[in-house]
Amino acid sequence: MQIIIFGSPGVGKGTQAKILNNRLAIPHISTGDLLRDAYRNKTPLGLKAHELIERGELVPDNIMIDLMREMLREKAYQNGFILDGFPRTVSQAEALEKLFKELNFNHTVVLMMQAEEDEIVKRLTNRRTCSSCNNIFTHDKVKGLDTCPNCGAKGTLYQRNDDKEEVIRKRIKIYEESTLPVLNYMRAKEKIYFINALNPVDEVTEEIIKILQGVKEDITV
Ligand code: AMP
Repeated sequence: MQIIIFGSPGVGKGTQAKILNNRLAIPHISTGDLLRDAYRNKTPLGLKAHELIERGELVPDNIMIDLMREMLREKAYQNGFILDGFPRTVSQAEALEKLFKELNFNHTVVLMMQAEEDEIVKRLTNRRTCSSCNNIFTHDKVKGLDTCPNCGAKGTLYQRNDDKEEVIRKRIKIYEESTLPVLNYMRAKEKIYFINALNPVDEVTEEIIKILQGVKEDITV
């Protein structure tokens, strides 16, 4: 099953994708995590993407499409995955559709997570990330902690520069202008499952699992 988890920055896509990855053992592909890891490893891709990420802008389509083309051919993804952060433009959606056809991926499920902008800004400004395992926490949960509650790495919890309010507003604007049109593009081709992301995290997870079970009967949790 190819699960595309869609929605505004900060709506909880990464959190849900990581939980689903743990519970259902479906590989998680986060383009944001890939780019941040690439920067930490000082690869040409990471160095190129870094400034754009810090400014809250999108990395050019050709770079992202090439990255996805390479990733999705890997053996690990042939039985399914959760895609988080891609596609973010209509060009990316068109390229993804073509790629899915080429690779014979034909069990696509699109989940659209929704929440109001004020709540999103609140969540993002309050978010902390582990640079080692990429897990996401609320500031309250990790305040004063020196080690990551998920992977135990020391000194790795940080606030992303693009999780500061002025960059967040820009990211949301770009989402509305460039990414939301992808929903209309996909709507014409796929059934979209809308999810209220304002609900508590575990309720959102249960809702998603119910949807996935409805789509594919052999999912056991
Ligand atoms: P995320 O972790 O998904 O919020 O992504 C962080 C940043 O990585 C975004 O603000 C973009 O700068 C970049 N990025 C991630 N995925 C994409 C994509 N599909 N297309 C363009 N830029 C992306």
